[in-house]
Amino acid sequence: MCGITGVYCDGGSLASNYVYYSLFSLQHRGQESAGIASFEKVVRLRKGMGLVSEVIKSDDLRYLRGKVAIGHVRYSTTGNSSLENAQPFVVKSKVGYIAVAHNGNLVNHENLRAYLENLGNVFSSDSDSEVIAQLFSRYMMHLDLLDALKKMTEVLIGSYSIVALINDKLVAFRDPLGFRPLCVGEISDGYIIASESCAIDAVEGKFIKDLDPGEVAIIENGDIEFVKVVETKRRATCVFEYIYFARPDSVIDGVSVYAARKAMGEELAKESPVYADAVSAVPDSGITAAIGYAAASKIPYIESLIKNRYVGRTFIMPKKELRELSVKLKINTVRENVFGKRLILVDDSIVRGTTSRRIVQMLRNAGALEIHLRIASPPIVAPCYFGIDMKTREELIAANHDLKEIAEFLTADSVCYLSLDGLKRALKRCGRGEGYCLACLTSLYPVPVPGEKCIVDS
Ligand code: SF4
Repeated sequence: MCGITGVYCDGGSLASNYVYYSLFSLQHRGQESAGIASFEKVVRLRKGMGLVSEVIKSDDLRYLRGKVAIGHVRYSTTGNSSLENAQPFVVKSKVGYIAVAHNGNLVNHENLRAYLENLGNVFSSDSDSEVIAQLFSRYMMHLDLLDALKKMTEVLIGSYSIVALINDKLVAFRDPLGFRPLCVGEISDGYIIASESCAIDAVEGKFIKDLDPGEVAIIENGDIEFVKVVETKRRATCVFEYIYFARPDSVIDGVSVYAARKAMGEELAKESPVYADAVSAVPDSGITAAIGYAAASKIPYIESLIKNRYVGRTFIMPKKELRELSVKLKINTVRENVFGKRLILVDDSIVRGTTSRRIVQMLRNAGALEIHLRIASPPIVAPCYFGIDMKTREELIAANHDLKEIAEFLTADSVCYLSLDGLKRALKRCGRGEGYCLACLTSLYPVPVPGEKCIVDS
């Protein structure tokens, strides 16, 4: 995942302050590391491990001067969770300073790294985002910005939404299939770019537009320009942005995440009804779909589980025994709502099934009579190569087991998933039913991935 943001502002205000506040709104997209780079004669950089509030202090914001700044929160898919992989990455060359923050994942990063190393580039991390920064810097030495970006689209395979500083110029680019979101807003004395519209709202900005796939926004000397670097017929926005990742108060490509999630719950209720006393949710990401399920089924919604929002990252529980306790620390049951009830429990998705199993057992221990799991997405049957941590089929419960086996493993009375058609119907009702990456649900990939079937060839 990762969250990225960039700000240009004139006047007396500091771009890094806006970036700081907008990063808070994107914290759900990554909690491993955070960083901000700004430009005033030179690039100024602060990054570190942890949440935005842990990494960036008020002294840092005073240091991060300048009219332009970019920021990043990280969730790792390529490269370890370590300081050297924290972003933004800064490269200095004959064109000056280039700082890059990236959301996505490159399928061919190893080949590109080898190519650059052969040319003499030296890397300080094992992140694919540094590959992007160094490649971009190299292209910028020979080409103008638009040609450099066009060249990038010819060699990069995978997902890449990017914000970059080229000295005091702010550039934002979305890959030709638009895997990851990126939108633009106006603030009182400039512009803001962010992964999600909730980050524009957070700084009281005015939403201007989502960048189209293959489009760049260039902000220089207070003016903004949008240019289509490549014309694209297809798009492949990650459908899991709507199912799980994005904040429900964001709107991506004209589709409200909240409305989409609620519609998924409604479609699920129509497809997979079951007699029960109450509908409930696995918090937080299952809540909106559960509200939709309850509305469509006319079965009351209750809270059966409460999430402790202050337990997040697994690295604060380094021992295996403690990690196993983590579900219990994160979620507890509301016994009086659960005891003696037949429950429909709605969750957004199931990856490995281990958390769902523990939750079902917790509800049984709290006295639930029946637990019917309803999943507001189709089964995840294939890995993601585009920025989500689902790397192998072996780890995916639905890739290896049928519905009956899944229900047995989870110890649920029944398990049903939303169908692919139901998912598309829900999204269509909210504005757009096509143009999504569905690869982890269909095993058909929108770009070539070694060993996998590509949608273009099928
Ligand atoms: S494979 Fe799945 S998680 Fe990955 S980008 Fe495509 S829809 Fe999103």
